Amino acid sequence: MTAVVFEIEKFATHDGPGIRTVVFLKGCPLRCMWCHSPESWKPEMERYPDGTVIGREMTSDEVLAEVLRDKDFYDVSGGGLTLSGGEPLFRTAFSAELFAKAKGKGLSTALETSGYAPAAVIDQLSAVTDIWLYDIKGLDSARHRDQVKVDNAPILRNLRWLDAHGARIILRCPMIPGVNDFKENLAALGRLADELKCVERVDVEPYVPYGIDKARKLGLKVYEAPLPPMGYADEIVGKLSRLTGKPVRLG
Ligand code: SF4
Repeated sequence: MTAVVFEIEKFATHDGPGIRTVVFLKGCPLRCMWCHSPESWKPEMERYPDGTVIGREMTSDEVLAEVLRDKDFYDVSGGGLTLSGGEPLFRTAFSAELFAKAKGKGLSTALETSGYAPAAVIDQLSAVTDIWLYDIKGLDSARHRDQVKVDNAPILRNLRWLDAHGARIILRCPMIPGVNDFKENLAALGRLADELKCVERVDVEPYVPYGIDKARKLGLKVYEAPLPPMGYADEIVGKLSRLTGKPVRLG
């Protein structure tokens, strides 16, 4: 089975426990207004106007061979393979196959996801996923539809299903100044983290403007948020820490 991989990041230490290799797949059904990787939206390979190719079609065996090159580092650090995107659940069969093969080689598997997928997909991936790095972008459904262009109901339903089935979950919360960092959203995030027994931690991910130039080159548009002021990340971590009993840290 193949998928289009647009980046492989080695020695990552912020995308799951230990030292990990993060594999980014192209294809995403969401359209977050602040997206930092609009080059991942289309599932197929494409080119920037200067001819630079985005993505490479790879088999699951090719990806696994690349990931296994650093197995010694995973073994000593408790790390492994993280699949990200785009949205890896968009490539369900590939992701399930790659994770099954990775687990067959003794690798830990982490899935970085928006959680926006049919329930059956979550069920299928849960069998081969050790830890879920689960994005929560906002709890207000109308704002979510406006800012992310999809409903947050299936995302929350899938999250509760994983919690009920004992999954290991880290919530990842992108914080975009003036967009979703208002106090009602932070309070709702705190309540959600407390409600879910399997949420181990909440990671705050402050806005980065990485998507703007890439979107411009591709003729796409992403929102240019004001850059977070000095101390912004610490301030959000502090506020959220007072709103939940779960650990909160900078992601
Ligand atoms: S931020 Fe992630 S989930 Fe949102 S549109 Fe971009 S790739 Fe998709």
